[in-house]
Amino acid sequence: MRETETVGGTELMQISPVQRTTPVRLHLSREKGFDLQAVSRATNDLPAIAVTRIQGGWGNFLCVGDPGRIWIDRGMHHGLRVKIEANLKVPVTPGVSVAAHRAWLTDTAASSPSLGVAWGIPGWRLLNPKVQTVIERELWLLRQDAHLFRPALRNHNVACSCDLNEPCHGDTLLEFFND
Ligand SMILES: [Zn+2]
Repeated sequence: MRETETVGGTELMQISPVQRTTPVRLHLSREKGFDLQAVSRATNDLPAIAVTRIQGGWGNFLCVGDPGRIWIDRGMHHGLRVKIEANLKVPVTPGVSVAAHRAWLTDTAASSPSLGVAWGIPGWRLLNPKVQTVIERELWLLRQDAHLFRPALRNHNVACSCDLNEPCHGDTLLEFFND
C-alpha cells in the first residue's frame, strides 16, 4: 500500500512497512536446471516447499489413475522403510483425489474404524481388512505429522507438478499452512 503525505512542501511517499504477500501455488517443472527457490523468490519473495510424492511427506497419498492407487512413504521408522503401495480396484479422478486428501487432512469428525470411508477413498471396502488397517494407521500418523509441521510452512509457496489450472492438493495445503 502506498500513501503520499506532504510535509513542509515536500511530498513524501510512504510504503507500508507490512507488505503482505500471499503464498501461491507454483508449477514444479521437471526440466533440468529448474530452480524452484529462485522461481519462488522471483514470484513473491517467499520460499517454496515441493509437495509432490517424489519430494517427500506432503504428496497426495491417493494417486489418480484407472485403477487408482494409494501410495505412502513415511521414510525410515525404527530401522524400517515404511512404504505402502496399494492398488484400488476402481478409478480415481483428480477431483476425487483432491477431495479425499482434503478430508484426510482437515476432517476432524473422521473416526475409526472407518477412516477410509470417512475420507472418501474410492473402492475402500474392496480392500483386504488387514491392508485397510495398515493404511489407516499410516495415514493417521502421516496426518499427525502434517499437523505438527504445519506452523513451519506458513508463508511458503507450494509447488507441485500439476498444471496450475488442474485440481491439486497443493491448494489445500496452501490453505492449511496459512489458515
Ligand atoms: Zn498437484
